[in-house]
Amino acid sequence: HAKNAGRNRVEVFREELRDSALVRLSIETELRTAIQEGELVVHYQPVVDLATRETVAFESLVRWRHPQRGLLLPQDFIEICEDSNLVIPLGAFVIHEACRFIAANPVFRGKVLVNVSTRQIGGADLTRVVRSALKETGVHPSRLGLEITESGMLLATQSAASDLSALATMGVDLILDDFGTGYSALSSVLQNPVSGLKLAREFTLRLGDRSTGDRISTAMATLTDSLRMYGIIEGVETEAQYRQAREHGWLLGQGFLFGHPLPAEEITFTSAGTSHLTELRDRTEAVEA
Ligand code: C2E
Ligand code: MG
Ligand code: MG
Ligand code: MG
Repeated sequence: HAKNAGRNRVEVFREELRDSALVRLSIETELRTAIQEGELVVHYQPVVDLATRETVAFESLVRWRHPQRGLLLPQDFIEICEDSNLVIPLGAFVIHEACRFIAANPVFRGKVLVNVSTRQIGGADLTRVVRSALKETGVHPSRLGLEITESGMLLATQSAASDLSALATMGVDLILDDFGTGYSALSSVLQNPVSGLKLAREFTLRLGDRSTGDRISTAMATLTDSLRMYGIIEGVETEAQYRQAREHGWLLGQGFLFGHPLPAEEITFTSAGTSHLTELRDRTEAVEA
């Protein structure tokens, strides 16, 4: 096909996806079997202690090894999953995988942070899924964090609120993802027992010479500390951003500079991690005290 020359199959696929309801429908059908066929895989990206660059946690990120289309990213299929409720079995699969990753790597002592879609909270027994994954793998609840966007934290339903409070009571961390990009970030902190937040990449991209981005970053790092939460700055790609993040008071970071998301088989643990997220937050408190 001449039109497609010079572009890879994933790019072509993205165009089709945008333009064609039929492609969306076929993806939905294929997704239904993808989990059973073992086509969904979870990659893990390190979260590092900015002082030492030591990995203290991982974020789990789902991918789809599509037999014809290649490795697909969440942007290619998560929305379809959410619209079709397939995000419920997908979410359960990722939570189980994350717990198996923890159980399979006893040298690693940190947390794994799992993205949770708004659609998973409330109606579909998220608490039960988490409990069964922890039980099946023998993993302690404190090893798991759930990353939820502001809109997810603010679901009005009673079942959503009880899901989130039950998970927090179990000892699972709730983390506000993409902090600063929603409409009501701080009211979600008022309403939920939030342990940590992740400053959205949008802000990291705007770090610069005494820019507005710098002031927001500094204010957010301070806010995180005063709320007794841990803060993770996302999307750190350059040494300059890394240096600025530290100057602004961030203790934890994530981004291509420190490591790309990788399949579990490609991650090696050379030494036992000595710190993890909660200890780092406690360290801040000790410094302040
Ligand atoms: P997110 O939770 O904000 O995840 C961070 C995204 O930024 C990931 O993209 C990651 O690969 C990417 N990233 C990390 N460091 C850098 C960097 O330095 N530069 C740049 N440009 N990007 C970086 P990914 O894996 O494509 O995931 C996109 C989104 O899809 C995630 O955003 C999350 O909202 C969603 N997602 C991923 N996995 C899952 C899942 O298992 N369940 C659900 N419901 N959503 C998921
Ligand atoms: Mg996330
Ligand atoms: Mg994020
Ligand atoms: Mg995001």
